[in-house]
Amino acid sequence: MILFKNCAVLPELMDGFSEAKCDILTDGKRIKGIYKCGECPFDSETVIDEEGRFVLPGFIDMHVHLTLSGNDTRIDNEKSGVQRGYDALKYAQDALNAGFTVLRDVGATHNIAINLRNSINKEDFVGPTIYACGLILTPTEIGNDFLPGLYSEVDTPDEIIKAVRQEVAKGADYIKVMGSGSAQNPGGEPGKPIITLEDLKVMVEAAAFKDTYVAAHCHGATAIHNAILAGVHTIEHASYLTDESIELLKGNTDSYVIPTLLIVWKLTADVAESSAYMGEKAREMLNAVKTGIRKAYDAGLTLGFGTDTGIDPVHHGQNSEEFVLRRDFWGMKEIDILKQATINSAKIMGIDKDYGTLAVGKFADFVVLDRDPLKDIAAAHDGVVSVVKWGKVVR
Ligand SMILES: [Zn+2]
Repeated sequence: MILFKNCAVLPELMDGFSEAKCDILTDGKRIKGIYKCGECPFDSETVIDEEGRFVLPGFIDMHVHLTLSGNDTRIDNEKSGVQRGYDALKYAQDALNAGFTVLRDVGATHNIAINLRNSINKEDFVGPTIYACGLILTPTEIGNDFLPGLYSEVDTPDEIIKAVRQEVAKGADYIKVMGSGSAQNPGGEPGKPIITLEDLKVMVEAAAFKDTYVAAHCHGATAIHNAILAGVHTIEHASYLTDESIELLKGNTDSYVIPTLLIVWKLTADVAESSAYMGEKAREMLNAVKTGIRKAYDAGLTLGFGTDTGIDPVHHGQNSEEFVLRRDFWGMKEIDILKQATINSAKIMGIDKDYGTLAVGKFADFVVLDRDPLKDIAAAHDGVVSVVKWGKVVR
């Protein structure tokens, strides 16, 4: 057992504990008790005094790519599968050190994210808890060969059902699909849908039959709208989000939006010449991203937290830059951004029984910050003092 004393906490990120300070007792991987300071009735062999530092639930990034480095994709494409596997472990640990104790990988080569998930779950390595989809399902499209080994191309209902079953059989936690063109793929048009509503419905049904859900990469308005109509569970990016789609999402517990600002922002600012076409597409969508997601926020939608880390030029461990960006770009409140990266994402992923808040019985995953993130959200980025994962201090 470890007793973490004198923790400043945010009641919104606790379950039923309303004091501003507490002592947290862990037993093995889980939280055994949360007490008013000095009132823990158990003796603990290890006591760590947090001296009033802020203790938050571990952060969740719902949109990362562990087999991409954040460097030029063409360099990653030259690596062997084995090399990509070792690199993925390092990238996952980089995110863990930044406070992200849960990652959802949204597309990896060589079944690496699924295998890494298994190794971390067996505790062979220290790393974040990973949820993974395996390959990304996509219709045959121009530019798909830019990401060799990442896609499974499907063009008919039969192929869709087969591919869903293949990924689930390989260990996928859920299914990922390309709903619109991509900024990365040469020739891809983010504004245009690339899969029909009918085919999306087939995919959602095939996934549901295997007790799981579909996540769809969607930039364009039609792609987003069709994804909602088909019952896609997580709509990734949602760059051109319309008022009609927001109306459909209000009170809708089937479909949620996972914005990924970091990639769009970095592509507009910070891109190598060889990837200049990606920057152009990102600049084109930036205004729509600003108004659409802000409207979704104002409408009270439960938004998830994603970054697209691994996609050039966003590096693993930089995930937490998204906190500051969401405040500066969308004017979101600090507490709302923190909820997006914890309890909202946990609920959307269906893992809030174990993650997302500090509560008795949940995993002892937390991030210790040197200052109050409600006064300065940058504390969640540059103020991380330590990270606790499954009851172990890992940073
Ligand atoms: Zn992505």
